[in-house]
Amino acid sequence: MDERALVIQLDELRTYARCPLEWFWERRAGVARPHTIAALVPTAIRTGLAFYYGGHAESLTAAIGLVWHDWCEGWGEAALARDLARYADGRARILGLFLAGRIQRPDGGRYAVPEMTSEYRTRMHSAGLSTLGRSLDDFARTHGLLAPDVGDRPGSAFGDAFAEGLSMAERVAPDLPAPGVVLGWEVPFEANLGNGMCLQGTADLLVKGAADPKTVLVEVHDFEPAPWVRAGLAGRDLRVIAAALAQPPARPDESAGVSWDRVEHVMYRHWPTGQTYTFRETSSGHLLALVAAIARGMRHHVVVPRAVTGYDACRACAYRESCWGKPGWEALPLVDAGLLGWAEAHRDSFQRLRQAVASDAGLASHMRVSIAALEQVLRGLPEASLLSPVRQVLEAVDHDQS
Ligand code: SF4
Repeated sequence: MDERALVIQLDELRTYARCPLEWFWERRAGVARPHTIAALVPTAIRTGLAFYYGGHAESLTAAIGLVWHDWCEGWGEAALARDLARYADGRARILGLFLAGRIQRPDGGRYAVPEMTSEYRTRMHSAGLSTLGRSLDDFARTHGLLAPDVGDRPGSAFGDAFAEGLSMAERVAPDLPAPGVVLGWEVPFEANLGNGMCLQGTADLLVKGAADPKTVLVEVHDFEPAPWVRAGLAGRDLRVIAAALAQPPARPDESAGVSWDRVEHVMYRHWPTGQTYTFRETSSGHLLALVAAIARGMRHHVVVPRAVTGYDACRACAYRESCWGKPGWEALPLVDAGLLGWAEAHRDSFQRLRQAVASDAGLASHMRVSIAALEQVLRGLPEASLLSPVRQVLEAVDHDQS
């Protein structure tokens, strides 16, 4: 039994702050986070950092290549790694022409987003990369990585994720701490906020302090696609503020075997641009106020879907299909406390059901037929919404097995 009044995962807090319904899916309904292309980039880089600093690759780019190679093997398509490398090479050559100023706007200026130009589209097509890109995206779709409605683009969303991860690594690698000073990666920490509140987070990199061996530098890695980040925004990032208060976990079984007395400073690193900011002091009062407010919302099950502001707000969300497929987020038991309680009370049952269905194809088939029959009978009645969690269990199993 933890004696602290309230222990919250920083990731959970950020998920709730981004969209309470996303938090509901992941943390209350127990619906495993669907795979997305966007999530591949940070996962590849974080795993690549572990390979590189763990001494399994001579450079970060080589490490990321190994990660993708392993994924392709896991997907049963080892040859796909070669196609991805060919796509990334060709794409880099074309983008290099824009970067070198050999392709310019009619007024002589640089294009801000070369990928949006007709010149890029034409050159990708002539180099055969549009055709290759389409086959890469077809693969991603059949493996549940790409939503069926992602529209036409000059290249490949899947290939771009591979290429962008590599180019971020090439840009950032010269600025990374040397392996000899890195104490750990994905290191768990705690931040005690007072009032019995404790946040549990993870340091992307933990580096030896420069002056005092008992101090550390914590790196916070951000992968949000943005053309630039202001220092003021980075300084208000909850991860940065929490990292400044980082202490080794109170329970030895939760620590990564690294210990320190004090955080010397926090480095915020934005991978898409390579920008970094260093913070020696952050506003813990700001964090405490936010955590208290967000925790109240979670405790009282305040679930306001971001979807109420329209589809655009949901475009990049991993749970988009759950919210915008049939019957949609409006039919969910979110604002009715009784139905919400019902959903939570049955979460474990749904998880058991998922395991059973995943291991028994015959059962899965019977359930599909039964659910379709019940939906037919209950069509138009409010009780029909009660079937949607079971339908989602079946869809999640289909997704996992595709
Ligand atoms: S699709 Fe929209 S409403 Fe649904 S969880 Fe994601 S952000 Fe929230």
